[in-house]
Amino acid sequence: MIKKGDFKKYKIATIGSHSALQILKGAKDEGFQTICVCEKGKTKPYTSYKVADEIIEIDSFQHFFKIEKELMARNAIVIPHGSFVSYLGWERVQQLKCLHYGTKAILEWESNRTKERQWLTSAGLNQPDIFQHPEDIDRAVIVKFHGAKGGLGYFIANNPNEFYERMKDYPHEKDYTIQEYIVGVPVYTHYFYSRLTEELEIMSFDKRYESNADSIGRIAAKDQLDVGIKTSYTITGNIPLVVRESLLPDLFGMGERVVKASQAVCKGGLFGPFCLEMIIDKDLKFYVFEISARIVAGTNLYINGSPYTDLRYGEPMSTGRRVARDIKQAIEAGQMEKVLG
Ligand code: AMP
Repeated sequence: MIKKGDFKKYKIATIGSHSALQILKGAKDEGFQTICVCEKGKTKPYTSYKVADEIIEIDSFQHFFKIEKELMARNAIVIPHGSFVSYLGWERVQQLKCLHYGTKAILEWESNRTKERQWLTSAGLNQPDIFQHPEDIDRAVIVKFHGAKGGLGYFIANNPNEFYERMKDYPHEKDYTIQEYIVGVPVYTHYFYSRLTEELEIMSFDKRYESNADSIGRIAAKDQLDVGIKTSYTITGNIPLVVRESLLPDLFGMGERVVKASQAVCKGGLFGPFCLEMIIDKDLKFYVFEISARIVAGTNLYINGSPYTDLRYGEPMSTGRRVARDIKQAIEAGQMEKVLG
């Protein structure tokens, strides 16, 4: 157990991408000094928006380990985000020696589609069906390539023939999932769970702005066919959302069950920010198709707080700031082990 401490002895660090502006601003609002690790030539947002007290430049985020000692010398607590995990890979994150917010082991459960499904199933979440063999396709499916950055190249097929036809464009792809396509609206629920308070919070919601899925409706169906447009889901931004209030009890329950189930799959379980990515259909049925076990970029909409955090906090509370507050409270309570992993 680490002794009760002065949080000012610690700094908050992250890499300059994804949700770093929000994380560092939130840390400053809570009174921390901040460090931003940037790729050379990409420091501008972090100096312009004045969120970093210090900037450490590296050639590539892949070389993060080269500056790890520097971060340790500064007593920095590193906050992982989507780009951090994707640049380092979940395996290399396990090898970090610096102070790290969040359970590292849960990242494997998030990154491996089989394990992810097992986890979400054990939490009792409804998910789209998976087709193991293309021959079994008997309804609309979405085919997802695992290496695909931001949904590029995903396609829809309605039967085995369409599947094989479309796969001709990807002769070397072996690593994909065939998932039932759910007609409904995508909703990204941003959660936060603190091991200090043992309480699950809903911070906010967003929906994604995806090209060209969100642009196809701007032209007539005939033109879509004439031009031969193929739907793709490259994320370009995020749009704010509030949900029908009567959906909230179920959404809280889903988040709580995911946290509880995570404690059975890995030591320490899931804590901090996470996101359930789901489609809600016309019967208000939820289909969770993915979990992100760390802060998602959709929370960037709410640097000044969301309608939901306003209800709870009455002061601007971003997810990034909530992370910093969790860390600060843990240090002050002498329970730092509850925020490190
Ligand atoms: P993903 O890369 O899994 O986050 O998916 C990218 C996008 O594809 C999502 O934001 C949704 O718009 C869409 N999507 C993913 N899975 C499904 C599904 N099973 N049914 C309908 N749309 C989906």
